[in-house]
Amino acid sequence: VTGQRRLAEAAPRVVLRTEVGATVTTRSIRDANRFAVLRGIYSLVTPTRKDLIGLTGLSSATISTVVSELLATGLLVESGRQESGGGRPSTRIGVASDYGLLVGVDVAETYVHADVYDAALNRLSRDERTMTGSSEPEQVIHQVVDLVRAAMASYTGRTVLGVGVSLPGQVEPRSGVSVVAPNWGWSDVPAEMLLTEQLAHRVHLDNPLKATTVAELWFGHGRMTGDLVTINLGTGVGAGIAIGGQLVRGVTNNAGEWGHTTLVLGGRRCRCGRNGCVEAYIGVSGLMAEFRARFGANHPYLVGGGQTDFVDRLVAGLEAADAEAEWMINHFARHLGAAIANVVNMINPRLVVLSSWIARRLGPWLLPATTEVMRAESIQGSAAATDLVFSAVPDSPVALGMATLALESYLESRYSRVGATQIRTR
Ligand SMILES: [Zn+2]
Repeated sequence: VTGQRRLAEAAPRVVLRTEVGATVTTRSIRDANRFAVLRGIYSLVTPTRKDLIGLTGLSSATISTVVSELLATGLLVESGRQESGGGRPSTRIGVASDYGLLVGVDVAETYVHADVYDAALNRLSRDERTMTGSSEPEQVIHQVVDLVRAAMASYTGRTVLGVGVSLPGQVEPRSGVSVVAPNWGWSDVPAEMLLTEQLAHRVHLDNPLKATTVAELWFGHGRMTGDLVTINLGTGVGAGIAIGGQLVRGVTNNAGEWGHTTLVLGGRRCRCGRNGCVEAYIGVSGLMAEFRARFGANHPYLVGGGQTDFVDRLVAGLEAADAEAEWMINHFARHLGAAIANVVNMINPRLVVLSSWIARRLGPWLLPATTEVMRAESIQGSAAATDLVFSAVPDSPVALGMATLALESYLESRYSRVGATQIRTR
C-alpha cells in the first residue's frame, strides 16, 4: 500500500514500463485507488472518510478526491452524519442502489447461473439452468444469452451498467477472449464480442478464480485483511491471490493456476496433459483415483462413478467413523496441506480461504487436518501468521464477483473517457 500511495502522490507523468510492455500509468494508479475506495465503501457499508483511510491506507487527500469524483457520477451518496465528540460531524458515504443494474453470470460445464443485482450489489433475483447440447461456442453462448435475457425480463427500462460473465479455463479480460477451455475444446473464442452482439449490454469476461477472490475481498474475509488466497476445490482446482487488497492477475491473467503446479514429480497424468499436478491428486477425480488405487474399483464408495455420489458416501463414512473414509480424508489433507504450504511460502498471506461445495461438505473433517499439515510444511514465520478458514461469502461467489468486476469495468470505461477530455484541455 505504501508503494502504491507513493506512486499515487507522485508527479502525474510517472510511467513505469515492464519488459513485456505492460505499463503502470497514472490512470491505472487512479483506477487502483478508486477500486480500493469502492471496496472500502461496499465492504464497510456506509463508512466515513476516516474509516476509508483506515481500511485502504490511502491519504486523506486521495480519499477526498476519489469520493468527490464518485459522488459527482451519482453512484455514491452522502447518507447521514456521525457526531464525533465535539469536532465536526463526519458524513457517511453509501451507494445509490438505484443507480443501475448489474448481472453476474457463472458459466460452468454443467450449468449456467445468472444473478441480477442493484448498484449496491444487493441481489434482486437468481436464475439457473442445466447446460444442454453441444459445447460448441455458438451453443454455449446461445444458452448464456437466453438465460440473461430471461433474468432481465422483469427489469425492462432499467439502466444496465454491465454483465459480468465467468467462463471456465483461461480467460483474457482485456481482449474479451476465452483463451483455452479444455473441457469444451475451446481455443481463442472471442466470447465477449459474441455476447455483446446479442445482449446489447457491456459485457466483462473473467474466470471463476478471479471472481471468487474479488467476492471474498469485497464481501467476505477481505473486510479483515487484503492479503488472502482463495482455494477452489472441485473437479478443477485453482487459487486466487490478493495482495494489499488488490487482485493479482499476472501478465496474461493466469496467476493462481496453482492446480497445475507439480506436487509429485513424474506423478499421475493430469487433464492439462502434464503429470503430477496438484489437481491430479486433490481434484475430485484425483481423490477417487487415489481411493481406487488403495481399496479397489469395487469399493461401495465408487459404485456408479459419480463425483457427488463419492463425496456423499465419504461424508456418510466419516459420520460413521469408517476407516476407509478416515484414510481418504487424511490422504486428502496431506496433499492439500502440502500444496497450500507452497502457496504460503510463496505469498505469505494472512488467510487461506477454502471455497466451493466440496470444502463445505468435508470441511469439519478436512479443515483441522489440513491446517496441521499446512503449518508443519510452511516456514515458521509464515505458518504462525496464516490461518486456514472457510469462505465468508454467503452464496454464488462467482456471480457476485463477476457483478463486482462488471461494475469496475463500467467505471473504468467512464473514467477513461473523462481522462481523455482532461488530457486534451490541459
Ligand atoms: Zn495439470
